Amino acid sequence: MTTTTWAGAHTPIQDGPGGYTGVEATPEWAEEIRRLARERNATLLAHNYQLPAIQDVADHVGDSLALSRIAAEAEEDTIVFCGVHFMAETAKILSPAKTVLIPDERAGCSLADSITADQLREWKADHPDAVVVSYVNTTAEVKGLTDICCTSSNAVDVVASIDRDREVLFLPDQFLGAHVKRVTGRQNMHIWAGECHVHAGINGDELAAKSKAHPDAELFVHPECGCATSALYLAGEGFVADDKVKILSTGGMLDAARATGAKQVLVATEVGMLHQLRKAAPGVDFQAVNDRASCPYMKMITPAALLRCLQEGKDEVHVDPAVAERARQSVQRMIAIGNPGGGE
Ligand code: SF4
Repeated sequence: MTTTTWAGAHTPIQDGPGGYTGVEATPEWAEEIRRLARERNATLLAHNYQLPAIQDVADHVGDSLALSRIAAEAEEDTIVFCGVHFMAETAKILSPAKTVLIPDERAGCSLADSITADQLREWKADHPDAVVVSYVNTTAEVKGLTDICCTSSNAVDVVASIDRDREVLFLPDQFLGAHVKRVTGRQNMHIWAGECHVHAGINGDELAAKSKAHPDAELFVHPECGCATSALYLAGEGFVADDKVKILSTGGMLDAARATGAKQVLVATEVGMLHQLRKAAPGVDFQAVNDRASCPYMKMITPAALLRCLQEGKDEVHVDPAVAERARQSVQRMIAIGNPGGGE
């Protein structure tokens, strides 16, 4: 248990296995968060999969790469990244001179954790001439061993840009890898068997059953996260009628939400995205393909964690400068090849 309290809190902040608790997201809390952010000269960034209260108190809400770019351009010298750890690392890689804080450094990502730097070193040693392509859901160390990063928006373009005679090592997401292999028809592409555990909530049968039960509904797939790359793959396998499926980035999804003539839209992504969609188009009934598709790491950024972060300046994200330099190059190569969208 930490001893941190604030005037509006009735109990001390508690630290448990699921993260920091003990603070309600009241209007007074939001006011205190805004005050502390100003005092620290910090900008608050929140990923789309954050709790609604965290999204509502932030300066910017979006995908990881979009937020990292906002971080790099922000006038403030401190970035508070409400998301998971690899995202805060990416912000640090792109803004090395800024202080980057994450409200709880234990907020990891099962997809990023599915390959370590040592495992990648071994894999590379088995394929010394291969080009390494990594999805953005990777640690800074893995990005530092990568030739080109990719997002789900530009993974096909990134792989297609590589000499067809060169082997490709694609990691860590096996569903995105399978999708890219199918589209490019490339045989010399090896795919790491990683996945996001939130995937388990979005399977083909469930997707097909939901679509059948709501025949007039559109299906929005937001594949900028490991939790929805399986839906991207399954849509391509014909589990849902082609004309009903829209594969969209965050911005594209919000535009499509405002423009849709459908009364109901099924959404294949982490459930946090529903908050943004319902705000954008209150007249549309947005339903999660699977309402259990909720990332527990994202939800570790609680009101208590954000309060503690701004009060104590913790947890600070550090990336070794040499690793950051190499990782930055792999991210910049990605940006040079094609539109990366917003990242996860
Ligand atoms: S939803 Fe999956 S891929 Fe996204 S942060 Fe959570 S564990 Fe990682």
